[in-house]
Amino acid sequence: MPELPEVETVRRGLAPVMEGQIIARAQINRPDLRWPFPENMAARLTGAQVIGLRRRSKYILVDLSTGETLLIHLGMSGRMLISGNPLGRFVHDHPAPEKHDHVVLHMGQGARVTFNDPRRFGAMDLMATDSAERHPLLASLGPEPLGNAFSESYLVPMLKGRNTPLKAALLDQKIIAGLGNIYVCEALFRTGIHPARKALRVSELRLARLVPVIRAVLNDAIDAGGSSLRDFRQADGELGYFQHSFDVYGREGAPCRTDCCTQTVRRIVQSGRSSFYCPNCQR
Ligand SMILES: [Zn+2]
Repeated sequence: MPELPEVETVRRGLAPVMEGQIIARAQINRPDLRWPFPENMAARLTGAQVIGLRRRSKYILVDLSTGETLLIHLGMSGRMLISGNPLGRFVHDHPAPEKHDHVVLHMGQGARVTFNDPRRFGAMDLMATDSAERHPLLASLGPEPLGNAFSESYLVPMLKGRNTPLKAALLDQKIIAGLGNIYVCEALFRTGIHPARKALRVSELRLARLVPVIRAVLNDAIDAGGSSLRDFRQADGELGYFQHSFDVYGREGAPCRTDCCTQTVRRIVQSGRSSFYCPNCQR
């Protein structure tokens, strides 16, 4: 499931082929993904110029010259593919149409941007750019972890005294937008906090430390995604999934990476999700 760094990598990959370009034709191959597509979606997209691509949490927001914004959510298995010959740079010819190519945007300069999603948990919607923050999927989101509003003076009072596992609070999208299981596990490892520890039993000093650590964990992954974009010419035109090594996530039974620690990484299940941690380094 794509998390914030993967979505940011997709946004950065799409920007050069979409920004400033006209959507010459929008091809919609089914009536819905997770939810029905908005009314007349093809007509509302066709002829629009793309002003810019933003990201909010795990949503890509495509601002259009029509005063509307296209929201794209990759869901569980959604992929964005670039094909055609955009700007003369990429020559991937996605053998179209594939079975799960649900939406294809034919851009003015010859690029094709394809949304492919076998499981169809993804979503697309259109809303007025002016009121985009009030969209039901965006309205209750907390601050962006890489934005200025996410600070020690915001986070510490939000978490302090909560009688829930700190991990659950960090996954609460109303507290921090876009933070998911993988990067919470990594941030807890780097701060030495056990995933089951209740927020009210973590000192303010350690809560404050989460702010720079969460930023670093996400930025490291975004950097890895950036490298994957530079190798894009050799890749298959798919954006956003890249090789990235984690300290604890997915490493159950493997040796802890802390110097001199002889423990192995363990896994527990919390609220149906796996937590990976080192029982020696995380208390
Ligand atoms: Zn350890």
